[in-house]
Amino acid sequence: MKTDDEILNLFQPSLGAEELDAVRLVFESNSVGRGSVTERFVAGFAEYLGADRASMRTVNSCTEGLFQAVELLGLGPGDEVVLPTISFVGAANAIAASGARPVFCDVDYRTLNPTAATIDEKITSDTRAVLLLHYGGFPCDMDEVCDVVARRGIDLIEDSAASVAGRYRGKACGTFGSIGLWSFDAKKILVTGDGGMIYCNSEEMSERLGKRLHLGLTRRNDFSNRDATNWWEFDVCTFGRRASMNDISSAIGIEQLKKLPGFVRRRQQIHRQYDEAFGDLDWLEVPPPLPTHVQSSYYFYWIQVGEGLRDPLANYLRSQNIVSSFRYQPLHRIGIYGQSTRLRNAEAAAASTLCLPMHQSLSDQDVERITACVRNFGVERRRLQRA
Ligand SMILES: *Cc1c(COP(=O)(O)O)cnc(C)c1O
Repeated sequence: MKTDDEILNLFQPSLGAEELDAVRLVFESNSVGRGSVTERFVAGFAEYLGADRASMRTVNSCTEGLFQAVELLGLGPGDEVVLPTISFVGAANAIAASGARPVFCDVDYRTLNPTAATIDEKITSDTRAVLLLHYGGFPCDMDEVCDVVARRGIDLIEDSAASVAGRYRGKACGTFGSIGLWSFDAKKILVTGDGGMIYCNSEEMSERLGKRLHLGLTRRNDFSNRDATNWWEFDVCTFGRRASMNDISSAIGIEQLKKLPGFVRRRQQIHRQYDEAFGDLDWLEVPPPLPTHVQSSYYFYWIQVGEGLRDPLANYLRSQNIVSSFRYQPLHRIGIYGQSTRLRNAEAAAASTLCLPMHQSLSDQDVERITACVRNFGVERRRLQRA
């Protein structure tokens, strides 16, 4: 029985006996590196997305995948990449580390997603790519975004880390651009500890990526003696790193993938419970309704409150052992990226938006405790204003 003062986390993985059993089997096989279990995870994930198996590869983190994506497209000095200022910090790092310039664009205040218009106004003759994410699992308007990218003849990198179950007109988020990325880190919906997946829309790119992820080896050197002679020899075609998942984390991934639809269903329920509990409050806005042609992963549940209320609310929730946060701090205001633009919607959203606990292990009682605290904050505030 949970007590009333137990801490309610913002995110929480759901790992259980099935994952432990799967890991035990990998231990017993004495083969824990990248092998047949990883192969099965890739095949299963590709099938889940409705993508071609050959277009998918594992990566040891989505951040590594973002660096790989930028390098794979050959971006570097003189190039610009447009990305929403509300982005994961590793995306900007990957662009800047290559010598290319990250150019931050504004977002829609309500969805915190970039739009075709906010992207388009930052495109110049030096723009080579757009790198976007689907905020909180709510898909961007991909018809419009793909239109801009096609019209300008540039690449799209889709950070789908927040959107593992996202669909837009039935097509999986992460499969719209040249390269798509997913994360399975400890704060995501599908968790393998660390890990990720990369999609490439061309076979040539996928082949090159495969080499880059494995030391640039042109021949699989598995240190066994299966070849008749000289099995220790290898050749190198590119200065690759070593950045794939292993069979331990992939075994966890296979079990998590089976549970994913259930996780998303529960998150959708919680989303609805929050919406209903807050529907009559005039000082707070719930996330905008989803268009009928999209499916969300329900990764974040975010509320937007009137001026000056966000920080007091976050502090009040903290005093009640409820963890809330704002994702993701606007990157155009971080000095190292060297940009001094004003992006008004993002700045306004960054001052008024708060993400509430959202994970599939929240019980109905947990959700009631959270909504009661938020409502209580509103009542207290009104009393203070009257006094
Ligand atoms: C978590 C996250 C990442 C980074 O994933 P890692 O696997 O931890 O490197 C990238 N982008 C978004 C949108 C994320 O939420």
